[in-house]
Amino acid sequence: MNCPSCNAPDLIETTSTYFIQLPERYVIVQNVPCRKCENCGEEFFDGAVTARIDRLLDTITTPAEEVAILDYETGK
Ligand SMILES: [Zn+2]
Repeated sequence: MNCPSCNAPDLIETTSTYFIQLPERYVIVQNVPCRKCENCGEEFFDGAVTARIDRLLDTITTPAEEVAILDYETGK
């Protein structure tokens, strides 16, 4: 798969930190699997990964207005 941004062929499998801004809070998800372009630095997340993140967002018990920090692997 080539980079959708710059078309470089060198996407590497890695993990990243995913930031989400919800209406009532920020969410940080750590250790999220992604592909990263070594040329332009862009990171790409699979649909299955973002779907899991969506499900994790439903489990947040952190009070509103606080930053929630989750781990992708454990969901906590
Ligand atoms: Zn690129």
